Amino acid sequence: MNNLRSKPLMLVLSSPSGAGKTTLSKKIQQSDSTFRISVSHTTRKPRPNEVDGVDYHFVSKDEFKILLKKDTFYEHSEIFGNYYGTSKTSVDEIVKKKFNVLFDIDWKGAKQLSDFDELNLLKIFILPPSKEELEKRLISRNQDGKDSIKKRLLAYSQDIKHANEYDHVITNDSVENCFNKILKIIKEYPNN
Ligand code: 5GP
Repeated sequence: MNNLRSKPLMLVLSSPSGAGKTTLSKKIQQSDSTFRISVSHTTRKPRPNEVDGVDYHFVSKDEFKILLKKDTFYEHSEIFGNYYGTSKTSVDEIVKKKFNVLFDIDWKGAKQLSDFDELNLLKIFILPPSKEELEKRLISRNQDGKDSIKKRLLAYSQDIKHANEYDHVITNDSVENCFNKILKIIKEYPNN
């Protein structure tokens, strides 16, 4: 087990959809037991392999709006016609146990989290090697319909404009390389 930090680290991974961030997040949690992935709420329908409460808390749009009114979220964002949000309770529970938190969220969410001074944020932006490679990955992972892939590719050009708002930008040329670069960044991040 890696050592716990005196102040939990909030690792934010953002990327254009399909750049491999979810795989990387799971790999980080598996290799470093001090990390827990923050499970977001979403109004998106579950994919066949996804489990409620593990991959996301799946809620209806009405339920999400009620939660939003109750100030449930640290941040939220509308992405591809669905709402996504990080609940304060899920993060606070992880922090209470002194674990580090891993966020797989978009640049809009990362920006909102940056407004909380008390969060010990380390923000990493993952880039696919190219737009063509991203398209190939979106098609081969076979999780999204044609329309959804089109939307994700359109968002790509907008998303990458925000890479400069992050502490580090890494190209995901291979999962292993990218993963090792992230581990190195985490290791070098001061424990204060
Ligand atoms: P997907 O539908 O492919 O699981 O996720 C689509 C996008 O939503 C990804 O870029 C992912 O990082 C982002 N996302 C997932 N959960 C959250 C969240 O709680 N907040 C924000 N802002 N983005 C999220």
